[in-house]
Amino acid sequence: MLEIKNLHATVDGKEILKGIDLTVEAGKVHAIMGPNGSGKSTLSYVLAGREGYEVTEGTATFAGQDLLAMEPEERAAAGLFLAFQYPVEIPGVSNTTFLKEALNAVRKTRGEGPLDAMQFLKLIRARAKDLNMTEDMIKRAVNVGFSGGEKKRNEALQMAVLQPRLAILDETDSGLDIDALRIVAEGVNKLRSPDRGMLVITHYQRLLDYIVPDVVHVLAHGRIQKTGGKELAQELEAKGYAEFGVNEAA
Ligand code: ADP
Ligand code: MG
Ligand code: MG
Repeated sequence: MLEIKNLHATVDGKEILKGIDLTVEAGKVHAIMGPNGSGKSTLSYVLAGREGYEVTEGTATFAGQDLLAMEPEERAAAGLFLAFQYPVEIPGVSNTTFLKEALNAVRKTRGEGPLDAMQFLKLIRARAKDLNMTEDMIKRAVNVGFSGGEKKRNEALQMAVLQPRLAILDETDSGLDIDALRIVAEGVNKLRSPDRGMLVITHYQRLLDYIVPDVVHVLAHGRIQKTGGKELAQELEAKGYAEFGVNEAA
């Protein structure tokens, strides 16, 4: 589903990713853990196609397509979901309108016709109800004035509506309280399916108590240093990243 080979990327002329090899299969949840500054967010931004992140070597293919040649919107329409792509606030655009446009763009790529307003409303209401979201939250402007937890809930709603083929979540090191962790986990776990891949990027082992990954990778010094099963996350929690030449309290 996602195949990354020898990926190198620079930010401001500085090489941050130094040869990433990573394959995420359909049906699997992969976690990437790593110390602060190891390049986790850089990897997710490169996959999102964010400006300022320059790929200097290597390839990334998504469902057989050259991901790096695609515009960010094309990536989304092809079924790639990047969690941080949506926490942006969009004043004046309701969640309902925003998600309807996003879903119809995905449907178009799949050769399906657009949902009309009534069909979409029915869908978004059902998904919001599953996530204990109020009608008010789906009508409000996208993320405007949302609390951290509400943004996470909204992210889960976006995933539930868009039903991506591959979801990439970069759970940044700050501001994820226990409620937010649970919301992220709930959103991911609901979407686990044999035809969907997930890449959960996190500094915290704690998140992986709620989302039990199939595969865990350690990213340090711009490369995947180690790959293992879910027990690798526990091992890192106990031993920290010293083994990888990084001095950081776990
Ligand atoms: P992580 O998410 O693992 O904490 P990041 O990908 O955010 O790591 O950062 C990796 C390295 O890239 C760090 O050394 C950081 O200082 C550097 N970096 C990230 N973004 C920028 C930027 N916009 N300009 C310069 N350096 C950056
Ligand atoms: Mg960081
Ligand atoms: Mg980060």
